[in-house]
Amino acid sequence: MTDLPHGQPVIVGAGLAGLTAALTTKRPCVVLSPHPLGTGAASPLAQGGIAAALAPDDTPALHAQDTLAAGDGLCDPEAVRAITAQGPDAIQTLLSLGVTFDRTAANTLDLHLEAAHSRPRIAHANGDGSGAEIMRALIRKVRATPRITVLENAKLTALHTRNGNVSGIDIRQDATDITLRTTACIIASGGIGALYEQTTSPAAIAGTGLAMAARAGATLIDLEFVQFHPTALDIETQGRRPLISEAVRGAGGILIDETGNRFTEELAPRDQVARAIAAHLKDRHRVFLDSRPKLGNRFSTHFPTIAAACRAAGLDPDTTPIPVRPAVHYHMGGIATDLHGQTSIPGLWACGEAGCTGLHGANRLASNSLLEAFVIGRAVGNALDGASIASPLTTTAPYRITYNDFRKTLGDSAGILRNSRSLTHALATLTPHARTDAHALTSALICHAALQRQESRGAHFRQDHPGRAPMAKRHAFTMHDILASTPDLIPS
Ligand SMILES: Cc1cc2nc3c(=O)[nH]c(=O)nc-3n(C[C@H](O)[C@H](O)[C@H](O)COP(=O)(O)OP(=O)(O)OC[C@H]3O[C@@H](n4cnc5c(N)ncnc54)[C@H](O)[C@@H]3O)c2cc1C
Repeated sequence: MTDLPHGQPVIVGAGLAGLTAALTTKRPCVVLSPHPLGTGAASPLAQGGIAAALAPDDTPALHAQDTLAAGDGLCDPEAVRAITAQGPDAIQTLLSLGVTFDRTAANTLDLHLEAAHSRPRIAHANGDGSGAEIMRALIRKVRATPRITVLENAKLTALHTRNGNVSGIDIRQDATDITLRTTACIIASGGIGALYEQTTSPAAIAGTGLAMAARAGATLIDLEFVQFHPTALDIETQGRRPLISEAVRGAGGILIDETGNRFTEELAPRDQVARAIAAHLKDRHRVFLDSRPKLGNRFSTHFPTIAAACRAAGLDPDTTPIPVRPAVHYHMGGIATDLHGQTSIPGLWACGEAGCTGLHGANRLASNSLLEAFVIGRAVGNALDGASIASPLTTTAPYRITYNDFRKTLGDSAGILRNSRSLTHALATLTPHARTDAHALTSALICHAALQRQESRGAHFRQDHPGRAPMAKRHAFTMHDILASTPDLIPS
């Protein structure tokens, strides 16, 4: 690349949050995507849709109430109020950006009901292809916006700070290392799913943006809260597992084992169903989702995207039960931000799954994540317009970072069930690598947070502390706060 766009905001990640920030700001900006646009992100894979209080009998206050209930005492009530209040406008804006949501025969938006929502409020597109349609429309707009420079096959490898402010970033594009001098960096790099073997996320979603922010000293919060989806497709794979959406259980699908017996309540909260399936698998059963009693042989008509994923794995969901197992699906925690996506570091913003506003608390309400990605992505875009952004003359020397595979360690210790012994053991394995390896660092930070929370709440279940603490308290920390307990985390 000959003319480097120094002095522009750099948006790390091209999912819904990153593209919304890029389309909202009026400034020239750079978007990094480690893969061709539209791939390598969770956003295009979203099936259910996006939550917003749009039905005549619904209100943002009811949406907020359901969100607070799911969050199990740890949501930030102001974040919940502000983000749910923007739901209807978010849908209007997405419509104006060209997203085609599914409609009823009367041409109103067709709204689905999902578990733990008290009203039908999930706007969806192409049945279960919601994320793909939203991303199609946004990518089209991005491609038609000349002030947005998209760097494909490019990933963030280092974040530079000087006197506590962002001063630049390192990128690897194909095999070339590039340094961009800028005082504005937006981490929109998604969640942490691919740090685990069992995940619904693509391989690029591995918490590297979080690791870079942590090394720079950003405040992190709620990292122990990792949501496991109860029903991912149980097939032999090294990569992500296709998701069998909650909507299948909502439509009457039942969970059975190899004997044909039911063993749990299908519509219980996500974390309870995930724990029940994990326990049944541990007892050497297999678990299947059977929609035949309710849907007969019409599964493919109701869930075309899921049916296609099953067929690609050699399964016919119209005639046979679908083998399922839990998989990491969403990270409630992340880089702590305010409602403008501002982190604790001047010049560093975070939005989408990489950030944490406190909307989700200890457990995310289904379909609230696309809403948050859009709302906070837009807030960051607006904040950039008011920020003073420069191109520093120099920036600090880059350090080398590696990306090794610690998935088994993290899965064994900070999976659906955790305890002090397994978490301490994992920290001992991870911390010697955490100075130089982004995956080890984020994994160690999750283990550290899980070790600190000596109770079970929301998605976090401690076998050695199965009860709830009397006071609900969020844990925010920086890498420097935990140096005393894990000195190997000190950046070189
Ligand atoms: C299968 C599946 C189904 C889901 N269904 C729903 C749903 O129906 N409704 C809902 O609300 N939520 C759903 N979710 C969750 C939701 O999709 C995500 O939370 C949301 O899309 C996150 O958006 P994002 O922009 O923050 O991240 P993503 O869309 O994941 O994008 C992150 C981007 O950052 C890039 N990136 C990562 N690391 C780097 C790096 N080091 N340098 C540069 N770029 C980097 C990635 O490649 C990607 O482009 C689902 C998730 C999955 C996996």
